[in-house]
Amino acid sequence: MKINSVHAREILDSRGNPTVEVEISTKLGSFIGVSPSGASTGEHEAVEKRDGGSRYLGKGVKKSVQLINSKIAKSLIGKSCLNQKKLDELLCLIDGTDDKRKIGANGIVACSMAIARAGAASYKKPLYTHLNDIYSKLYGKKIAVKIPQGYFNVLNGGRHAANKLAFQEFMLVPSANSFAKQLQMVSEIYHHLQVLLIKKFPGQVIAVGDEGGFAPPLSKPEEALNLLVKAVEIAGYSKKVSFAMDVAASEFYSERKGRGKSSGEYRAHKMFNASSLMKYYISLCEKYNIVSIEDPFDENAFVDFASLRKLISQNSNLKKRKIQIVGDDLTCTNSLRVKVAVLEESCDCLLLKVNQIGTVTEAMQSAVLAQKNGWKVMVSHRSGETSDTFIADLAVGIGCGQIKSGSTARGERVAKYNQLLRIEERMKRR
Ligand code: PEP
Ligand code: MG
Repeated sequence: MKINSVHAREILDSRGNPTVEVEISTKLGSFIGVSPSGASTGEHEAVEKRDGGSRYLGKGVKKSVQLINSKIAKSLIGKSCLNQKKLDELLCLIDGTDDKRKIGANGIVACSMAIARAGAASYKKPLYTHLNDIYSKLYGKKIAVKIPQGYFNVLNGGRHAANKLAFQEFMLVPSANSFAKQLQMVSEIYHHLQVLLIKKFPGQVIAVGDEGGFAPPLSKPEEALNLLVKAVEIAGYSKKVSFAMDVAASEFYSERKGRGKSSGEYRAHKMFNASSLMKYYISLCEKYNIVSIEDPFDENAFVDFASLRKLISQNSNLKKRKIQIVGDDLTCTNSLRVKVAVLEESCDCLLLKVNQIGTVTEAMQSAVLAQKNGWKVMVSHRSGETSDTFIADLAVGIGCGQIKSGSTARGERVAKYNQLLRIEERMKRR
């Protein structure tokens, strides 16, 4: 099925910042791809191209849009949208840099996602089935589609909120036999949590952060976790919900000049070094039913990640509970960095964000590498989003079993969860 036209435009994301939307048309209609955008971005991510200057405070994306409407359009028009890998390679070739700084990963990812949607339509398949075909081919065997476990971020801190909570995300992990039930449980807990917060902070505005979780004036992780425990209890789900955190520790890490990398400081609710922070995580895991910790240390601290995993596995109280260590800023959906993390045994779960690397194929290649090495994969949204639902289909299509898309509130967050409801319903009908 031939691509007839490629058109990029600048639209706004959930933070009110410009982002790139691409519309690719075939004789079947037009298909959209749109880039999300991070706030706590890893330094090893592919480049998000911004215009600079004063327009939109420098955050415009017109340069990337223009390059897509000229160079990329010229190359894609007339090509078949069915070969995702070949077209993704072509996009990388047109950019020609190792970090996609010329066109911008934000422009390239929008093209790549639009191509996938056009391909799915040509095969008359739902997007998740088409993505499953592509993934199975890359993996070298048929991978089963799967509705994922949700990791729902209901309390926001770090770069996603204006409070003093250094840890970025506190997530609920409900255990249920359907995604619909997971969503119902979290929605109920979320509303109980809101009541608790209004009581705890009378007269203060209980606003939400970038990902739809509440952003109350807390500073200690224990305060956040205690509130979650209480809200879960009130909702009547105590035995059915565990907890996860994305610490996003690079955001409060600094190296101490002249003392080498391993002597860096973590400035959270108090000062930590890698070793005291590690002990702190162990104490939190002993006290709370935590099953997943993302980015517990700086984005280059492969060895500290590995030491934490070792410490958890040697702890007699925690050995039996499976606590996964997730790489996000550490690995950046980049297969070269995943390889290092595999060698160092830093993680056992890869956070998968397509825009961190730039194309659907490259993101899938990182997921294949992670899964072949026994890791889990968690598909993720970004803190700056649109109502696009691509990642819901991606999570189902690669059968990875995990997704995070923020809270059960705010349109751009629930759009993905609602799409999972649709997919789940469709899969049950078959
Ligand atoms: C994250 O760190 O996992 C995240 C979703 O935030 P951001 O998009 O700001 O990187
Ligand atoms: Mg993260």
